[in-house]
Amino acid sequence: MSRIALVPAAGGGSRMGAGRPKQYLELAGRPLLAHTLARLLAEPRLDRIVLVLAADDGWFDTFAWPEDHRLAVLRVGGPSRAESVRNGLAALAADAGDWVLVHDAARCCLPAAALARLIDTLDDDEVGGLLAVPVADTLKRADGGLRVAATVARDGLWQAQTPQMFRAGLLARALGGELDAGVTDEASAVERLGLSPRLVEGDTMNLKVTWPHDLPLARAILAAERGGRGE
Ligand code: C5P
Repeated sequence: MSRIALVPAAGGGSRMGAGRPKQYLELAGRPLLAHTLARLLAEPRLDRIVLVLAADDGWFDTFAWPEDHRLAVLRVGGPSRAESVRNGLAALAADAGDWVLVHDAARCCLPAAALARLIDTLDDDEVGGLLAVPVADTLKRADGGLRVAATVARDGLWQAQTPQMFRAGLLARALGGELDAGVTDEASAVERLGLSPRLVEGDTMNLKVTWPHDLPLARAILAAERGGRGE
């Protein structure tokens, strides 16, 4: 059974407003993306880690990256996350192997146990699935202004995370259709085929760095882990 991690890292990170794509922001002495790659490289059951960069990415080559034969770089990013993943899969073609685990470059604090749980749970699954956490907060739907129109029942609601793990052929088929704004993750594309991806308990530490205020949070998580290891 082969497993490839596919890491879309072709976004501009405009919500961060940082002047460089967020995957290259400094976090504990390394670019954010280096932390993400280290998380994936630490899982021996991943045979390859394939990065999808924008064709015109001028940042990647300015940093040092782990010397690991499992790491590969494709410069085939598209205008949306889904298209970056689709292009990456197409470039891999027959080399994509059995399972593909798509993981956001911006989720740099992925706990090893959550990744291991995803693989343990899904290796024999018919459909595949994703890490996710049950919604903890009470949810409000806004009206046109900043007023509550309704409270939304949170029973059965989960927040999707990554990695999202699907068989390569199924994922290519799912992403082969029209990629409108409703396809915000791999699971949503697979759902459109009438399939039900499995939810595997993720971890709130597995945050996606999106806004400037996420950076100190990610730094704190990394520092707490280092403290826990007594470094
Ligand atoms: O912008 P957002 O945080 O939703 O992006 C999620 C992931 O998808 C990031 O790792 C980002 O680099 C990637 N992405 C991509 N190609 C795009 C847009 C986003 O690979 N065109």
